[in-house]
Amino acid sequence: MDVAEFRRRGREMVDYVADYLENLEQRPVYPDVEPGYLRSLIPTEAPLEPETYEDIMKDVERVVMPGAASPACTELETVMLDWLGKMLQLPECFIAGTQGHGGGVIQSTASEATLMSLLAARCKAIRWVLASNPEKSEAEILSKLVAYTSDQAHSSVERAGLIGGVMMRKVPTDNSYAVTGDILKKMVEEDKAAGLIPFYFCATLGTTPSCAFDHITELGPICNKENMWMHIDAAYAGSAFICPEFRHLLNGVEFADSFNFNAHKWLLINFDCSAMWVKKRSDIIGAFKMEPLYLKHENQESGLVTDYRHWQIPLGRRFRSLKMWFVFRMYGLKGLQAHIRKQVGLAKEFESLVRADKRFEICAEVIMGLVCFRLKGSNELNQTLLKRITKSREIHLVPCQLSGRFVLRFAICSRSTESHHIQQAWRHITQLTFELLQEPAH
Ligand code: PLP
Repeated sequence: MDVAEFRRRGREMVDYVADYLENLEQRPVYPDVEPGYLRSLIPTEAPLEPETYEDIMKDVERVVMPGAASPACTELETVMLDWLGKMLQLPECFIAGTQGHGGGVIQSTASEATLMSLLAARCKAIRWVLASNPEKSEAEILSKLVAYTSDQAHSSVERAGLIGGVMMRKVPTDNSYAVTGDILKKMVEEDKAAGLIPFYFCATLGTTPSCAFDHITELGPICNKENMWMHIDAAYAGSAFICPEFRHLLNGVEFADSFNFNAHKWLLINFDCSAMWVKKRSDIIGAFKMEPLYLKHENQESGLVTDYRHWQIPLGRRFRSLKMWFVFRMYGLKGLQAHIRKQVGLAKEFESLVRADKRFEICAEVIMGLVCFRLKGSNELNQTLLKRITKSREIHLVPCQLSGRFVLRFAICSRSTESHHIQQAWRHITQLTFELLQEPAH
């Protein structure tokens, strides 16, 4: 959709909402549908090819309006998470379907998804220990619980540990900044010998500093054997798994208890839309269920209705699956794959420019849309270069530290980035580099 069409559709949407308000009195107060009504009205998978905006709007009237804000809001979310799960080729156990034990939910952010998984794992672990040691107090068990994550994990994982009141140990990474099975295994064994209770591991697929991928095919079996919850945080990289050529990076997800990525980061859906799947919905619901009288409803015990309030911290929720439905249909799976491929291609273009300039080095394998690079030389030199880049206000780079070295990160983020932007950015960086290296101190 170009800007002109966006303007036109925006105006049409205001009219649609105004018509709705004007005719509200003619609409029923209660939705006249049975639980599960929506699934049968739409396809079981996202379309491959783009569909028209008109077709989607017709379906809003046909599919959403009979179920008003709820149950349509809940049911569309479950089906959209199934669509997305199928795009990612998630194992069947994560797909809700009509009979599944797992399923997906939209959280606001990856931080929230990690926290939810940690709290659910904590609850499960406490119950499990209590079952064989009823004399122990919850506080005593809590003080022994230990969680693990990579030393490259996002700060939100450590924060989840702080909020959840559990110990979080950082697992050292290998030369490519990934956690491998042997290191985790060793730490878990040491901790068990010291009387601690390992209960949770948060793996990262696509770390924030360098987009590294933990070896989940090795880590998953260790977690399963040790009865530890494995959560996978793929906040950024997860979107790319809709492309068959990147899907292998998700191999091992079958061992995970929960998996999350931010569809709002790289899948063209506006903020906020953090997609999270759990293998066993009972694990997450069991941890947070509250049933006050004012929230009871007649379908509660039927098993036909998903109450997402048990899957998240807030009670109220927005109708965020509408955004998914529109985007998936407007682009089609092929359109979304083309978007990812284009951005990875642009990152590769930037990588080639860096590699062709002997003054620079690439600091981590370029797999997706992130290029970690630096000037060969001191950290101070690179810090000065970044300061000048920032001061000139043409491009925005965020640094990281890799193996003690100050590294610049070039990330392709915007939907509208084109090759000429990459070339322009590189010209700018090399111009500033030229000026910097001309100075006597360097
Ligand atoms: N995890 C990873 C790997 C990230 O890269 C980020 C953000 O960049 C986060 C978690 C935090 O994401 P959010 O802002 O959705 O909480």
